[in-house]
Amino acid sequence: MKDLHFDNRFVEQLPADPDTKNARRQVHNACYSLVNPTPVSSPQLVSYASEAAALIDLSESDCNSGEFLQIMAGNSIAGGSQPYAMCYGGHQFGNWAGQLGDGRAINLGEVTNKSAQHWTLQLKGAGETPYSRTADGLAVLRSSIREYICSEAMHHLGVPTTRALCLLTTGEQVMRDIMYDGHPAAEPGAIVCRMAPSFIRFGNFQIFAARDQLTELRQLADFTIRHYFPHLLEQHSVGEPEIYAAWFAEVCGSTVSMIVDWMRVGFVHGVMNTDNMSIHGLTIDYGPYGWLDNFDPEWTPNTTDAQHRRYRYNQQPNIALWNLYQLANSLYPLIEDTKPLETALEQMQVDYQHQWRLMMAGKLGLEQYQHGDEMIFEKLEKLLAVIETDMTIFYRLLSEKTITGVEDLLEAYYRPEQITDRYRSDMASWLHSYQARLSDDSRPHRERLQAMQKVNPKYIFRNYLAQQAIDKSEQGDHSMVNELLQLVRQPYVEQPGMQQYAAKRPDWARSKVGCSMLSCSS
Ligand code: AMP
Ligand code: MG
Repeated sequence: MKDLHFDNRFVEQLPADPDTKNARRQVHNACYSLVNPTPVSSPQLVSYASEAAALIDLSESDCNSGEFLQIMAGNSIAGGSQPYAMCYGGHQFGNWAGQLGDGRAINLGEVTNKSAQHWTLQLKGAGETPYSRTADGLAVLRSSIREYICSEAMHHLGVPTTRALCLLTTGEQVMRDIMYDGHPAAEPGAIVCRMAPSFIRFGNFQIFAARDQLTELRQLADFTIRHYFPHLLEQHSVGEPEIYAAWFAEVCGSTVSMIVDWMRVGFVHGVMNTDNMSIHGLTIDYGPYGWLDNFDPEWTPNTTDAQHRRYRYNQQPNIALWNLYQLANSLYPLIEDTKPLETALEQMQVDYQHQWRLMMAGKLGLEQYQHGDEMIFEKLEKLLAVIETDMTIFYRLLSEKTITGVEDLLEAYYRPEQITDRYRSDMASWLHSYQARLSDDSRPHRERLQAMQKVNPKYIFRNYLAQQAIDKSEQGDHSMVNELLQLVRQPYVEQPGMQQYAAKRPDWARSKVGCSMLSCSS
């Protein structure tokens, strides 16, 4: 395997935990603790994503090498790598949880590619760290498959996300009580290597603000700006309140764009705790996430959240705002003025509404958003929720042919018996107003459909597909993992022979664990 070039900016430029023993503890005044992955008995590569590998100049043969496998399993440390776990805190389900940190994620460091871009490599499930609290530092195959494929699926859908380089099984058995109901069982252990510019989260700043460790707060903020928002240095200098305010406004902006994309493709993150919010506006930490099958804006896949449904689909923009408020509170000591923070938060809400409208206009093939179009969008969302309608199939049908009535949409309905006369006429009247609105646009019909097909995916990583791949993999057959990875590479393009993966959720998956409900156990 060719050498990876490490540029360990995070560990070299930020304060370290002086204690280097690997024992659980509260870590003060430090951004990270140095810790090596725990070696595993018999790692086996399940899959690698060649596009992610290419980002760090690794070829197919590099990824198939024994050296690659040993590094990705944590059994050997690549030359130049200085593995570390990050210290962060966070609000979990609305409550301040104190120190969390990388409890099972170990960063190998930042690798530079031939274009001098930096990619942080991180092994998830690589063993205990000082932040492991009461847990084992490991990850199971089930949740690792979900994270691995979904990261790449989101990337190919055009949704900002952390990437996944590879997935391997460790040969270890890991105990998990999937539904937290007193039935623990052994599952295959696994590791995913994730990639991102950095894995810095809102919680990395929150922990310093909460502990009143303002020197470290400033150091981390300056580091983040210098390396990831360097254009801000053209207008301001580090240390000036304005630069932190401008940076916060950018974080608001990228977070908004990410959420709008989630709404576009029907993604529900499931655990939007502040420790799961990337400072880069990337989708991060794929846990009990899910995809809307039938368009139910109140749906959450996360059983832990079943009661309050804090993280349900249509709540995501509000939660993003709430999380940004928490970040604003943490950055306040650097600015000492609430005004610019409030302005950014207000702007974020305006931007969200604006971008949501543009996104919906795009899904419906409108050349431009016009005042009043929101009525069409809102009516449609109501209709989609009245009877069980597959969101992805509905929009795709609309992107593929002229729809004149319910008859043309039958493929999208889960329970055609729910179609009443009332529904039929409401849908007819919506289609009528939609067609009327389209006649204001000069774009030819074919071109419009082509544009719609670029924002309305044909293939999403449906919850039940993930579960099917998991069931097979747990039996030792990883073929479906690779087949799905291949599928999600071109989510907007009709793929011959792949029709079964565009189908709506089958009835058996309606209320099956893993398909429509997931716990945080991973
Ligand atoms: P999550 O809900 O997965 O974002 O995790 C919340 C916190 O729990 C983070 O600090 C994780 O590092 C930690 N955590 C989750 N699972 C484990 C595990 N198996 N071992 C150690 N820490 C974990
Ligand atoms: Mg997390």
